[in-house]
Amino acid sequence: MIDYFIGMVIKSIIFVKLTESNILHKTYIVMKIRIIAVLIIGMLFFPVFGKSPIKTLLITGQNNHNWRVSHIALKQILENSGDFIVDLAVSPSQGESMEKFILDFSKYSLVVLDYNGDSWSKKTNEGFLDFVKNGGGVVVYHAADNAFSGWKEYNEICALGGWEGRNENSGPWVYWKDNSLYKDYSKGNGGSHGQQHEYVLNGRNKKHPIMKNLPEHWIHGKDELYDRMRGPGNIKDILYTAYSDPEKGGSGREEPLIFTVEYGKGKIFHTMLGHAGDQLENNPAMQCAGFQITLLRGAEWAATGKIKDKKLTKDFPTDKKTSFRTIYK
Ligand code: ZN
Repeated sequence: MIDYFIGMVIKSIIFVKLTESNILHKTYIVMKIRIIAVLIIGMLFFPVFGKSPIKTLLITGQNNHNWRVSHIALKQILENSGDFIVDLAVSPSQGESMEKFILDFSKYSLVVLDYNGDSWSKKTNEGFLDFVKNGGGVVVYHAADNAFSGWKEYNEICALGGWEGRNENSGPWVYWKDNSLYKDYSKGNGGSHGQQHEYVLNGRNKKHPIMKNLPEHWIHGKDELYDRMRGPGNIKDILYTAYSDPEKGGSGREEPLIFTVEYGKGKIFHTMLGHAGDQLENNPAMQCAGFQITLLRGAEWAATGKIKDKKLTKDFPTDKKTSFRTIYK
């Protein structure tokens, strides 16, 4: 339809140019009105004219989580917003050769990581690092920060990770203490969580574009609360933390759960939220409107450095009430 609209405008302009010298002045006026009318109708009916969705590559295919649910949920959240087009890169199964799993990152502005499994091919590793170094955006989602504990650069892109043999050699524990991020170099394993429950996210940065107009405190849908995460700890901006309650099996610390990282020219949005349920319809951590909106904002910011629409939607959770977008829209 947009092509048709552009075609109409061009045709009208050409017609006016050819005829203005030898046709009555009246006809010229009529044509001018036609052009203006077409433009107005176009603006009314095609408000998205000129907006191009962010080309996104979502990497999945191996995970100790239900990636068959999570990658569909992520794709739907992103695409249903109208701001992203998502291609899927589904890896070979665990134990299969990765030699032919070579990804071309050059077409994309954003890579979403929903992968925790075997090492990628050397070419894909190199391509991914080049992509980030040269300014590509990345979303690190939930267990993606468990992956590749021995890959130094990958851990610098995540800033924090857990499990897969992580310990004091991986870097400090990082948590919120005395109003800032604290690095704890004590010995111990990296990565754990208590039982799943609803918990409150606490905002730590009002000025960041991702945070604009979002509530300082809101209740997240039932989810894991990652704690005792370790890594290089190169968090750029901490956005939300949450208290990991020992009564739920947690660390007793205020844990960093949503933050940004910079690597080369690349921007990274890391969310530890979103443990996938057994099916799309039973997936409260990802159906939570707070999870979805922070993910959308983080993804847009990672790809473009900006947030276009900073309005607070009516369905964002509050400090008293959870809120869900059950159809990922
Ligand atoms: Zn999980």
